[in-house]
Parts: sequence; structure tokens; C-alpha cells
Amino acid sequence: MSRRRQKRNQEAYWAQNPGLFDLPAEQLQEEGDSELMPMDDALLEQSERVRFMSFGSGSSGNCSYIGTESCGILIDAGVDNNYVLEQLRLNSIDVATIRGVLLTHDHFDHVKFAYALLRRNKQMRLYATNKAINGLLRKHRMSRRISDYHTPIFKEFPFKVGCFTVTAFETSHDGTDNVGFSIEGGGTTFVIATDTGTITARTDAYVRQARNLMIESNYDATMLRNGHYSPHLKARVASATGHLDNEDAARYVASVAGGGLLRRVFLCHLSQDNNTPQIALSAMRTSLEAAGKPVTTDLRSVDRIYLSVLPRLESSDLIILD
Ligand SMILES: [Zn+2]
Ligand SMILES: [Zn+2]
Repeated sequence: MSRRRQKRNQEAYWAQNPGLFDLPAEQLQEEGDSELMPMDDALLEQSERVRFMSFGSGSSGNCSYIGTESCGILIDAGVDNNYVLEQLRLNSIDVATIRGVLLTHDHFDHVKFAYALLRRNKQMRLYATNKAINGLLRKHRMSRRISDYHTPIFKEFPFKVGCFTVTAFETSHDGTDNVGFSIEGGGTTFVIATDTGTITARTDAYVRQARNLMIESNYDATMLRNGHYSPHLKARVASATGHLDNEDAARYVASVAGGGLLRRVFLCHLSQDNNTPQIALSAMRTSLEAAGKPVTTDLRSVDRIYLSVLPRLESSDLIILD
């Protein structure tokens, strides 16, 4: 193919897929060039530090934020957007910098407020696989206009959202076309693996590259077994396409921590009925310490792994990642 033809094809592709990358190639190039202009290093460092916070985690609703001063992303939209917008404001995060929502799958606790959020914030796109959007429209009473905000994503194909490069990967769950995300930018990597009954090979490949990991620690096996769920629901939760239990999450994270990259672990999607933050933390702490990786709740620690549980019904602190 001639160079000119190749360029024409590329331009047509950009025009047809405006959401895949936020700007046309030429503009990206210009933006890239502007980074060469002299800037105060300290200022740049300050403004481009990556921050993270969660607005809720679990079957009542999931939504979290990752971003810098200039660009941000939400992961899932299962928390009331009035609350999310209020929390962003309280933490001095400009909602106009948030470029979109990444959707892990189409279960209600992840999509409940997606349309309301997008309609109020026209600069945001909804990054999801085509199958996930179809599933969402099939399962829930949601306006079909949500498709107007949709940017299709494909597993294992990296895409740009603002200053981040995001890659979706396969998880194992009973939603439609479930994914986790690896988010790279600002000198750090953040991986989300939630709603997954087992750790898939592709999930494992991304988690091993993560400095920051948000991973499901959904239930304590004994509490689930002895709890009030119906036999059918117990089997569903514990299945390979259900949720990850504390021990499996703990053993898995300990096996990854030996690689030396992992700095912070956020346990998410704890069951209200079959888990407690104390039990989940204890399982993870025990497993990591047995692997020679002591944990801490001090974010400034350099030689221990930071470990916390994301609150079910309220926001976490705003945490600086590196
Ligand atoms: Zn869920
Ligand atoms: Zn789910």
C-alpha cells in the first residue's frame, strides 16, 4: 500500500472512530510536541500525579475514579451520580476533566447510573464492548440513547482516554462480555480485576505488571456456606463465573507480590452478607506476610505493600498513586 493511501486509510479510521482516541492524529502530534516546551518540573510533577478514589464498592453499587489534574476516568457507574459529582467537587476534582466511563460488565451494580451520568456530562464517553452494551440494553430499562455516548472497545486492544492508555482483558463472570482494565499513565499502572470467579490467564498477565491493584475479595467461604442464601445463589456466587473469595484472592495476590512491582492493593466488592472488612483484610495480610511481603496502612511506606478495603457505601479517601 502506498504511503498516501495508508495515510488516507488512517485518517478515515480516525474519523470513523473519534472516541477511540480523543484527538485526531495531527492534534495528538501537536499536543505531544507541546510537552517539549520548558516547564517547571515540580509543577508538572504535582499536576500529573495520578489520584484514585472509590465512591462505593459492592453489590449496592460500584464506581471509582482515576485521574490527574488534567484528565480522568471513572470505572463503572453503579453509584448515584449526584453523590459521585458531589464527592468529586469536595475533593477538588474538576468533572470537566473526566473523559469517560469504563464499563466492566452489564450487571446493575455497575451500570445503574450510567445514562444519567453521561447525559449530564456530555464530554464523557462510555467505553464498553459492543456485547456489554447490547447486554445492558437487553437486561435493564435504560434509554437506548446511551448508545450515542458509546465508544466500542475490544479486549486486548489498547485505547487512549485522555492521558491514559487503557487495555481491557477477559475476566470470568456471569455478566455479558466481562472485562477488567489495565490503566497506564502518569508513570504508574493501575489494574482492576473485579467480578471474576477465577483469575483468567489474561487477568494474571496484566496484574503481574501492576503497581496498583484493585481486586475483588467478595466472600468468606464459610460465611457463604453457612449463610442464608438459597443453594442456587450460593452455587452461583462460588462458581468459576461468580465471585472471588477471600482465600483465593489472598493466595493469588501473594503469588503476584513476589514479582516486586506491586505497591498497593485495594480490596473491593466485599459481600455485605458473607464477608467483613476485617476477615478480608486478615486473609490478605496473612497470605502476603507468609510470602515475605509485610503490609501497611501507611501510604508513604516504601518497603511494605499498602493494603486497604474500599468502603461499600461511601467514598474512600483520595489517594495519590505513583
Ligand atoms: Zn458487581
Ligand atoms: Zn457482576
